[in-house]
Amino acid sequence: MDGSAQTTLLQADREHVWHPYTSMVNPHPVYPVVSASGVRLKLADGRELIDGMSSWWAAIHGYNHPRLNAAAHAQIDTLAHVMFGGLTHKPAVELAMKLVELTPEPLQKVFFSDSGSVSVEVAIKMAIQYWHGQGKAQKHKLLTIRSGYHGDTFGAMAACDPVTGMHKLFAGILTKHYFADAPCCGYHDPWDEGDIVGFHTLLRDHHQNIAAVIMEPIVQGAGGMRFYSPHYLRRVRNFCDEYQVLLILDEVATGFGRTGTRFACEHAGIAPDIMCLGKALTGGYMSLAATLTTRKISDGISCGNSKVFMHGPTFMGNPLACSIALASIELLLESPWKTRIKDIERQLNEGLAPCAGFKQVADVRVLGGIGVVELTQAVNMAVIQKQFVDQGVWIRPFGKLVYVMPPYIICEQDLAQLTSSIVQVVDDIDSASLR
Ligand code: PMP
Repeated sequence: MDGSAQTTLLQADREHVWHPYTSMVNPHPVYPVVSASGVRLKLADGRELIDGMSSWWAAIHGYNHPRLNAAAHAQIDTLAHVMFGGLTHKPAVELAMKLVELTPEPLQKVFFSDSGSVSVEVAIKMAIQYWHGQGKAQKHKLLTIRSGYHGDTFGAMAACDPVTGMHKLFAGILTKHYFADAPCCGYHDPWDEGDIVGFHTLLRDHHQNIAAVIMEPIVQGAGGMRFYSPHYLRRVRNFCDEYQVLLILDEVATGFGRTGTRFACEHAGIAPDIMCLGKALTGGYMSLAATLTTRKISDGISCGNSKVFMHGPTFMGNPLACSIALASIELLLESPWKTRIKDIERQLNEGLAPCAGFKQVADVRVLGGIGVVELTQAVNMAVIQKQFVDQGVWIRPFGKLVYVMPPYIICEQDLAQLTSSIVQVVDDIDSASLR
């Protein structure tokens, strides 16, 4: 793209196009991207960037993958989309069967939707409708933990951390739920039973009104990039059983291998009653999400007063997205993904370690294919973003967090470039790069 075409594009973008969490008056700079292949994004000015973000957890196989392209082409020439009410098709049925096979055994019933946020809405509605069907309509609240993030729609926002969850502005009009403190025991820390006392107390005191506990298993993503102890999750499962409250695990970010297990709940050896999947489900090609539940819950909903589950989006079970998801899952299972994630984990640990010695760094942590450098102060995203682009890498920090979760196919050299850029940019942080 020549210089004047780029300028025109950027002017039109600035005038008319809203980007995630940005101002239309004083927007952050955006970089026009023209193509992407493997782990490289190509900018309109010809520069190539090594991708450290997997397009927010999604592009686990990298970009422009021949197998995913072939699946998309084959499906688009046959049936790109058709309504799911009263009709069904092979891509959706095969994908549902594959998800049932891959996820923990009790999960048997699959509801497809279009995004992670909607999969969370669906999960919340399933829990509420289940209890309604059991004659316990008063059980309609949620219990969650602070520092969580579940999406941008109203039901999901109400379960996000009231402070770090980015939706403080709406606090007054969101449904009020119960929030326990975020777990303090990190992934590798020895377990301290005191960590779950607050959670237990809330559940004990309010379970008559609580339909479900909702949380991200092991890794809390956009609410703080925190990794917590599998013991915490095991205890949550026990308490949910004891107090007859359903457990919703939001695996939208953690699903499909990112933390080193297929699903993060496997770290704790537990199964939820309802599981949300999205992001990497299609290898980052299309927006698709799924909410899985057990036969007991689907029967409970279907035998209740309303007889049917009250949800049905226009693009439910989109065949194109389902076909690509099937190809993406096949690709994942055929690949040595566990070894790749272990290698990425080892290299992130080694490569990011120097940051721990910087005074502007509060913590460095790594789990599976996720590396986080937490600073003591929030960064100026626009300034830091440009520094990364100038270094030839695509890393997008937020708040105090500089983090990477690269495509699983990244090679050692490219990953070394990502970590050394982080070390350099974080080392160079001065007052201009802070907010
Ligand atoms: N749940 C989690 C754990 C997420 O990380 C996200 C997205 N960051 C969502 C839900 C919402 O997904 P989407 O953006 O696809 O609506």
